[in-house]
Amino acid sequence: MGQIQAKVSAEALLHRLAAGQALDREDYLCLIEQQQTLAEPAAALARQARRRTYGDRVFIRGLIEISNHCRNNCYYCGIRAGNRAVERYRLSEEEILASASAGYALGFRSFVLQGGEDPQYTDEYLCRIVRELKRRYGDCAVTLSLGERSYESYRMLREAGADRYLLRHETANGEHYAQLHPPSMSHAARLQCLHWLQELGYQTGAGFMVGSPGQTLKHLADEMLFLRQLRPQMVGIGPFLPQRDTPLHAHAPGSAELTIFLLSLIRLMLPEVLLPATTALGTADPMGREKGIMAGANVLMPNLSPPDVRGKYLLYDNKIHTGVEAAQHIEALRERIRKTGCEIVIDRGDHIGKTGENHHEL
Ligand code: SAH
Repeated sequence: MGQIQAKVSAEALLHRLAAGQALDREDYLCLIEQQQTLAEPAAALARQARRRTYGDRVFIRGLIEISNHCRNNCYYCGIRAGNRAVERYRLSEEEILASASAGYALGFRSFVLQGGEDPQYTDEYLCRIVRELKRRYGDCAVTLSLGERSYESYRMLREAGADRYLLRHETANGEHYAQLHPPSMSHAARLQCLHWLQELGYQTGAGFMVGSPGQTLKHLADEMLFLRQLRPQMVGIGPFLPQRDTPLHAHAPGSAELTIFLLSLIRLMLPEVLLPATTALGTADPMGREKGIMAGANVLMPNLSPPDVRGKYLLYDNKIHTGVEAAQHIEALRERIRKTGCEIVIDRGDHIGKTGENHHEL
């Protein structure tokens, strides 16, 4: 196919996607290959799609990084168990509650507790924290992002009041998964966890890194099909960024532009999805957050961890944690987002298909 012809048919595919038609793997591959020419029209269509679902409202989540202890050894991740250079920390219950209290005063109505898979955080302990957060801040959503746990653990946490769970699948391809993780971890286990979370009525978030080592454009086409089938309420994607003390330190970083384009495609495929412009995107490009919002994203997750630990949760090199990334600078972020034509709102920011308390679904 000639260059011009390829461009014309890719644009037609983009409009079919925006009209809600199902594309196949070849279609997605064709779109992804035409990233350069399609980025702008895709972003414009994605903004329209977001306007129809969430308006120009951007939701914020206060990200509390509760522990950088981890039993796993993911090859890409800076807080992997094998990294001896990490200064480990674990927040106390008081520190977590104090972070949430500061966030509440700043207008956050949604908190994300994220961490490594830290065996010290037992179900009982985490349930107590979730219950206390929900007791103190009944109008807030509590999201957990603590990796793989047992069905029983997810069930207890849900019962304690957790509303959402973020667990990126990292890649939809089992062989690729094995290139990024040690043999002790399995793709099947990851997917099992995601299905449990959905079954338990969590607003569930999946996602992957863009440009992770070994990833091809065909893999990305498969990511689209995977997400369409899983239908998560949230999708977190960000560029892979190398971390110097990990086995994948020498690999090139993923592209911010490709990430932004994929945000648009995901918005078009799943118009109701909650879609963050992630910290990794903001790290790869200082304007990444704004560009993400302009491409159809509608969530930001500023850092609400106690300032003294922010520099220790380093999943990748140069991770931003000051400036507008700090929850305390929410007013500056608000101004920056206003320039995109969107408005940061004080709201739980539920998925529109799943609002309010979800407990009746248990
Ligand atoms: N332990 C939790 C939270 C992981 S950190 C869990 O397993 O879900 C959150 C996300 O950061 C990961 O899912 C991964 O996609 C991303 N991440 C980790 N290392 C990264 C790197 N080097 N570059 C970009 N993103 C990374």
